[in-house]
Amino acid sequence: MQLLRAGASGPAVAEVRCALRSFGLLPPVASGVPDDRYDSAVEHAVRAFQQRRGLITDGIVGPATYRALREARWTLGDRMLGLMISAPMAGDDVRTLQERLLELGFDPGRPAGVFDPQTEQALRKFQREYGLIQDGICGPATLRALRQLGRKVTGGRPALLREQERVRRAGPRLRGKRIVIDAGHGGPDRGVSLAGVAEADLMWDLARRLEGRMAATGMEALLSRGEHGCPAEPDRAAFANAADADLVLSLHTDANRSMHAEGLATFHFGTGEGVSSTVGEALAGLIHRELVARTRMLDCGVQPRTWEMLRLTRMPAVRIEVGYLTNLGDRRKLLDPVFRDVVAEGILVAVKRLYLLGQDDQPTGTFTFSDVLARELARADTV
Ligand SMILES: [Zn+2]
Repeated sequence: MQLLRAGASGPAVAEVRCALRSFGLLPPVASGVPDDRYDSAVEHAVRAFQQRRGLITDGIVGPATYRALREARWTLGDRMLGLMISAPMAGDDVRTLQERLLELGFDPGRPAGVFDPQTEQALRKFQREYGLIQDGICGPATLRALRQLGRKVTGGRPALLREQERVRRAGPRLRGKRIVIDAGHGGPDRGVSLAGVAEADLMWDLARRLEGRMAATGMEALLSRGEHGCPAEPDRAAFANAADADLVLSLHTDANRSMHAEGLATFHFGTGEGVSSTVGEALAGLIHRELVARTRMLDCGVQPRTWEMLRLTRMPAVRIEVGYLTNLGDRRKLLDPVFRDVVAEGILVAVKRLYLLGQDDQPTGTFTFSDVLARELARADTV
């Protein structure tokens, strides 16, 4: 290309001016002033642009500066991004994508703004972990996922701190706290279904037991679905957001091809790379410890996940997988109403502990429903 420098004019200069204006380096066009001259204002703006982008600051638009001007005009969402072997896509939109992937714990390499094979690999990993079609192309669905996650993660670090502050300020009483109980599946979606027993029904029953106990302590327990309803996960999350719930508890059981798989696992929002809901993790830990102590189920741990119910909710959310319906021992326990009462009580006590902020001396597994009720009533008199 021809070098553009002070004194030049023509359509190429007009294009350069237009780019510089869009970056705020040149004032908007004033009417009557020719817009295709490479004057001293343009030269000044080009130098500023070159400095900002780490180019040689000579005030001349050569191939490198020209390319950089074009790349800088793309913002994420302007176009689909993917791996092009012969002419790799480059631009600030690619750079933004790479930075987002890095923040989320994926490794696209140095965020250089060029869509290379490593970027594609990181994007595919992201898509796999978030349940998207794994095509390595950043299209509308992937963008939507990146944006939704942005709310919880990027703008989200302050949001995660607000979660902590809200729990601290809420005080130790359960009365008035609003909890969304999310019984997994429902309606035509039976969840794990085996020999006439369905996860959807068992979790509905468990949700009702928990709801009753919460109501008795003065909490406001809301169910995310009716007995035969099955809202999609984003709708359940939207329900909790609209209700401005304090916490969300999602109830499921697990299944495995091997009947030997058994045990209890508890999940909270987190990417596994340091981005995590602190309160969600704390609550998951409390619930998990209470339930392992009370049920003697195998301890499958507390784990970070980015599932929709954990990711799209704006409050601490925990998902509990209460054993495997495909395991004989777990299944026998789950079928016993007394066991489901034990689980409901354990969850309630864990919620109480969360709001006590560790200021209680009851060992795990010993705090009972009547203890919780007695404390609530005692406080109702004094507070
Ligand atoms: Zn389930």
